[in-house]
Amino acid sequence: MSQTDTYAQIALIGAGPVGIEIAVALRQAGLDYVHLDAGQIGQTIVGFAPGTRFFSSNERIAIAGVPLQTPDQTKCTREQYLNYLRTIVQQFDLQIRTYERVNAIVREPGGFILNTEAIHGPNRCRVRKLILATGGTAGPRKLGITGENQNCVHHRFTDPHLYFRRKLLVVGGKNSAVEAALRCHHAGAQVSISYRRPALDSAHIKYWLYPEISGLISSGQIAAHWGTVPVAIDGSTVTLRDVQTGVQRTIETDFVLLQIGFHADMSLARMAGVELVGEREVPKINEATMETNVPDVFVAGTAVGGMQEQYRLFIENCHIHTGRIIAALTGKAPPSSEPVDYLRPES
Ligand SMILES: Cc1cc2nc3c(=O)[nH]c(=O)nc-3n(C[C@H](O)[C@H](O)[C@H](O)COP(=O)(O)OP(=O)(O)OC[C@H]3O[C@@H](n4cnc5c(N)ncnc54)[C@H](O)[C@@H]3O)c2cc1C
Repeated sequence: MSQTDTYAQIALIGAGPVGIEIAVALRQAGLDYVHLDAGQIGQTIVGFAPGTRFFSSNERIAIAGVPLQTPDQTKCTREQYLNYLRTIVQQFDLQIRTYERVNAIVREPGGFILNTEAIHGPNRCRVRKLILATGGTAGPRKLGITGENQNCVHHRFTDPHLYFRRKLLVVGGKNSAVEAALRCHHAGAQVSISYRRPALDSAHIKYWLYPEISGLISSGQIAAHWGTVPVAIDGSTVTLRDVQTGVQRTIETDFVLLQIGFHADMSLARMAGVELVGEREVPKINEATMETNVPDVFVAGTAVGGMQEQYRLFIENCHIHTGRIIAALTGKAPPSSEPVDYLRPES
């Protein structure tokens, strides 16, 4: 195993939509940078189930000024968006070191050393500045209950086909859970839902999902266990506890699909010395520049929100990060915009 040293002015970590948008701008500004991603470009989107459509409209998730068109003018699918990202990387000839995870960041006088693990072994990069665009969905949230590690418990929604003619309990009540429940129902699964709140929140469920899920629940085609949380999974049964009364009941299922959100991995920011505020580990930044409390360390994209419970940062309100960072790096005036209060308590 060989170790290769790279020297660059800037390390950009993360090649999701926001990282790619920043890369285009760095290149256009003629800045010297190295771009790394632990997986393939758009790795977070790779993890969506096949055919998943974005909730956002196409113009809001278009990046780098490149229009995003779909053949039928509907919202973009996972596959169409990955195709779009590949095209942008080709069009701007972006050099991205995919499958190279940054494992450690060490501060040194005048910059940082990055220890990375590439496909063919460890590497090291020495840089003066860092841009962390590492996203907010490093891993699925877990329930932390007995039986959660069994094969019948799925923490990611990979394909509705898996549940054809099987009993499936979807845990969660936000858009991802509702969409998974609907898709699995249509794929021939016998679906039920457990959600800790007394009902779905119509104000926060996408308008094209809510009427359908409501209709299927009213007609008994999807069973809803409102106000419950799973407390144990034992082979073919799940024990649900009523959050109000504490009363437990057991239901039969073949699979449990947890759709209860994701956690962010803020470890790189921590290693770089960035102050992470509160339980949600929101990085401390100067909103005008996206620079953190550590000079020359910038955070961009959904990573800016830390561990988001109720997601408030999406691609559409992260475009502005690119302009702010480029302005800070080149000494130009930052673009103006509505500030987002990243530290506001979530409802
Ligand atoms: C089912 C589903 C539907 C969604 N729909 C929408 C939607 O409609 N609109 C929307 O805006 N958002 C949507 N999202 C969220 C969307 O995925 C994010 O908004 C978007 O991917 C964020 O972009 P980003 O560039 O900030 O981060 P990401 O896309 O998460 O990219 C971060 C990148 O950093 C890399 N990385 C992380 N750690 C390291 C490391 N240590 N070393 C190297 N690389 C690293 C990762 O591999 C990843 O590629 C959805 C998410 C899900 C799960």
